[in-house]
Amino acid sequence: MTERIVVGAALVDGGRLLAARRSAPAELAGRWELPGGKVEAGETPEAALVRELREELGVAAEPGERVPGQWPLREPFVLQVWTARLRPGSAAPEPLEDHDELRWLTPAQVWDVPWLDQDVPAVERVLAHLGLG
Ligand code: C5P
Repeated sequence: MTERIVVGAALVDGGRLLAARRSAPAELAGRWELPGGKVEAGETPEAALVRELREELGVAAEPGERVPGQWPLREPFVLQVWTARLRPGSAAPEPLEDHDELRWLTPAQVWDVPWLDQDVPAVERVLAHLGLG
């Protein structure tokens, strides 16, 4: 089966990483993730990241670079992660769909929230990539 990419955003501001708590579906509710979602047909991962962050959080984001690695989700999906920043003048993120709480985590706080199992290795790589680990 062809792999399908889910993009996750390592949205960083002032040295803190944004974590989003899922409100649905039931089996994921209460666990935290890097916000993002499925790349649609004909869309680049960077464009999907910008679209998902606008839809889910109401922000104008600027994609950065890919964090090396990819992590398996439910087949056929795999998680890939890009760094991202808020564009100047962007609204502050708000949980508009899929999430019910957001937190900006300092490196010391990153492991205070129960991440989705599949996001844990991705978050470890993000911290190392950003030199925050
Ligand atoms: O947000 P969306 O429903 O498009 O995400 C697609 C799938 O990717 C979901 O089933 C979710 O479990 C998974 N996902 C994930 N980690 C993320 C983002 C999405 O496991 N950081």
